Amino acid sequence: MLVVLVLGVFLFVQLRAVAHAPAPAYDLLITNARIVDGSGNPWFRSDIAIKDGRITRIGRLGPETATRTIDARGQIVAPGFIDVHTHVESIYSRPAAENFVRMGVTTLVTGNCGSSSTNVGEFLNRINQQPLAVNLATLIAHGSVRRTAMGLEDRAPTPEELKQMESLVEQSMKDGAVGLSTGLIYVPGTFAKTDEIVSLARVAAKHGGLYATHMRNEGDKVADAIRESISIGEQAGLPVDISHFKISNKRFWGQSPMTIGLVREARARGLAVTVDQYAYTASSTSLDSRLPTWLRAGGLEEAKKRLADKATRERVIKETKESLKRSGFKDYSFAVVASYGPDKSFNGKSIAEITKQVKNKKDITSQIEQILEMYEAGGASMVYHSMGEDDVKRIMQEPFTMIASDAGVRQVDDSVPHPRGYGNNPRVLGRYVRELKLISLEDAIRKMTSLPAQTFGLRDRGLIREGLAADFVIFDENTIVDQATFDKPHQFPLGISYVIVNGTPVVENNEVTTARPGMALRGPGYQQNHPQITQK
Ligand SMILES: [Zn+2]
Repeated sequence: MLVVLVLGVFLFVQLRAVAHAPAPAYDLLITNARIVDGSGNPWFRSDIAIKDGRITRIGRLGPETATRTIDARGQIVAPGFIDVHTHVESIYSRPAAENFVRMGVTTLVTGNCGSSSTNVGEFLNRINQQPLAVNLATLIAHGSVRRTAMGLEDRAPTPEELKQMESLVEQSMKDGAVGLSTGLIYVPGTFAKTDEIVSLARVAAKHGGLYATHMRNEGDKVADAIRESISIGEQAGLPVDISHFKISNKRFWGQSPMTIGLVREARARGLAVTVDQYAYTASSTSLDSRLPTWLRAGGLEEAKKRLADKATRERVIKETKESLKRSGFKDYSFAVVASYGPDKSFNGKSIAEITKQVKNKKDITSQIEQILEMYEAGGASMVYHSMGEDDVKRIMQEPFTMIASDAGVRQVDDSVPHPRGYGNNPRVLGRYVRELKLISLEDAIRKMTSLPAQTFGLRDRGLIREGLAADFVIFDENTIVDQATFDKPHQFPLGISYVIVNGTPVVENNEVTTARPGMALRGPGYQQNHPQITQK
């Protein structure tokens, strides 16, 4: 009897629900939003309705139309930020990617600076088994391809090796890579001549990809390096993005009008050239990038053998000293250790300080000797305070400049990494937009959303438009600020209340959620059912 009664009441409620309150049309509604839509246009006010991970309607909509409503009153709603310059090959071990989502980033492009997975299909497909909080795309990297074909050797490839490299790039483009990257200061990328890169870029071009490059030089020879990058794009017939565009040489501070001029000139000739930038006057890379490339050929073990020879060691010291002189710095106080495995007490200290501590010496030869000893012990990752603020600002103001972090997935530990991995986007919005009024809010958002989407071929993201993917960041333009500093980098920014990926919040009321709604984003050459090659 009771069962029948309960069932009856249940049915009655259900029928009433059907008759009077139809199931909401949308999964999520963002109301009262001031929308900065990513196009660069001034903000407008509207509601945004989301269904099945897509933006289904923009307009005046009642809260009853959605299962869930987020009131964005007083805040800005922008497309989720697209960070086109990251190093997140290890992301599956830290799928929350908290440092990225907490700064509003919803899509990452990895495989930059010549280093990527060489099995792009497997790398992207892994997201099905190990879901991520963010969307993920990758480049296929020249350095990794070259290493697979011919190790770390300092020579031109044989025709067979070049063919192998081309077919690996071809395979990767079909597996969904968005383009080809190079890292021409690193081993083995640095050993490649221009024609080798053109050959591989042609393959990426055939599949609609772009060429993203960490150039051969960002200091005294930066103009030559920009010309080489543009020429590769011109010869291979594909767009060029110059990564982390900067002037990393004290003697050349103030020369950004010249370097920007080279990019403008190329664009005026009809060549698609863009740049990306992080909003800091320090860079971050390996310690060994200070040392001659010939020393690093073949890898660390080879280098150690060379360094054991006294005359060779002296030659290395002499060349490194000359390179320091060319860079305009009087010693290595600008070079600060981010992470050094053998002695964590070095983290956060400059090479000059460490040399004083270890050797009680101040001279440059002793500092270089210290660098060599650390290199021989496995190397270190570094932060280099090597840029001028005026150049950073001038580059940021160019319409073709994107904002990208050059960071990896961070975890809180003893290291003292570059703060860009925690603060890059909020720093632009807090410091360069609000405090310095260098660029408008709308333009800053464009540089983080539609410009990267357009450049990297992510056609259904980067704008708030009906039909596009529902990636958003909701923040207070009056309070958004980065908190990470060079001394204390492991700090999340403030002012971002919601980050939404494919319609699902990954940050909610300023806290990360456990949701993993990220998708693999594949490039224009993607062929779903082409046969996989087996990797060696
Ligand atoms: Zn790089």
